[in-house]
Amino acid sequence: MTDSESCIIIGAGISGLLAAQRLMRYDMDVTVIEKCKTYGGRMAVKQLGDAVFDAGAQFMTTRNLIFRERVELWLSKGEVKPWYPGPLKNMRYVGSNGMTKVSDRIGESLNVRLLEKAVKVKFSKNRWKVTTEVHGESANRSYEADWLIMTAPVPQNLDLLDASKVELDYDDEVELRKIQYLPCLTIMAQMNGPSGLPNPGAMDLNHEVLRWIGDNYMKGISPVPGSITLQCSTKYSSDKWKLSDEDLIQNVMTAAKPYLKADLVEAIIHRWRYSDPVRIYNEKHPFRKPYFIDDNLRIGMAGDGFNGPRLEASGLSGMELASAIISPV
Ligand SMILES: Cc1cc2nc3c(=O)[nH]c(=O)nc-3n(C[C@H](O)[C@H](O)[C@H](O)COP(=O)(O)OP(=O)(O)OC[C@H]3O[C@@H](n4cnc5c(N)ncnc54)[C@H](O)[C@@H]3O)c2cc1C
Repeated sequence: MTDSESCIIIGAGISGLLAAQRLMRYDMDVTVIEKCKTYGGRMAVKQLGDAVFDAGAQFMTTRNLIFRERVELWLSKGEVKPWYPGPLKNMRYVGSNGMTKVSDRIGESLNVRLLEKAVKVKFSKNRWKVTTEVHGESANRSYEADWLIMTAPVPQNLDLLDASKVELDYDDEVELRKIQYLPCLTIMAQMNGPSGLPNPGAMDLNHEVLRWIGDNYMKGISPVPGSITLQCSTKYSSDKWKLSDEDLIQNVMTAAKPYLKADLVEAIIHRWRYSDPVRIYNEKHPFRKPYFIDDNLRIGMAGDGFNGPRLEASGLSGMELASAIISPV
């Protein structure tokens, strides 16, 4: 990397944020563009009155030493707390008041443009120009930098490149197009009392309709007993994607009834079109890297589509891509 290089990162999920943090430590001028009003992407938190729900990722794992060190730092600052050990006895951690606690702290220390959607990217004279639509404003904005990192789910990255008429190397593009994601319908339900789930308030299910029920009060992030997150199975999510909110809530709560000891008060739905990647980039390649980079085009991509369907894997993907940009091999 030469002095005073700059980078635009599309997406303030865990991969974009950790990539930005690492690049900034090496004095790179980094701008993160995020279309939503909050940091975190699929670490989203939702609220219903006073009740707080983890809507996407429910916990984070620390199988990798580098990520474990990160989590220990967040632990020491009170940003995460332990929840319960998984099957391999490794602790599962949660944000201290929802998963976005972690992304908020990182995001606040960076130059993130919230509520701006990248709508066009252009590579010319060795520089990237990114045009954004700003929520609530009629005029677009534009940013320029030496590097572009894309961290949205891969089909969305490719749509943006297509719409912008940017061509990648043919073989790279063939591999990138193979990365597809599964959907996940998620319901956040406030019950009229404690859910009745056994400790620790987490249920992994192999059920036709449901794959997970988590109690956000037992987890310690919601002040209201009986605030639960229900994730539908992949098959149910695909088959019933277009069902109305009302019908979905009714069907899912009926399926969940045998596991719960309280009745529904109100619920909201989030439709995750891109939940977990079905396959990752260069999956079969013996020297696979957990990111995509094209040094000539000065473009990279990171996220779970490159390293597996977990927060930890996505974060590491962003960090490793940043390292590859800072010190090319
Ligand atoms: C329902 C569900 C449950 C999960 N459970 C777990 C779990 O328990 N544990 C675990 O470890 N992992 C879990 N995961 C997976 C984990 O959440 C993801 O792997 C991780 O959050 C992905 O991070 P990312 O940065 O790669 O992508 P994202 O979090 O998707 O970030 C991409 C960001 O890019 C933004 N963006 C997209 N397009 C544009 C654009 N054009 N302009 C500007 N911004 C844009 C998006 O708004 C988003 O913020 C779960 C995921 C889901 C959906």
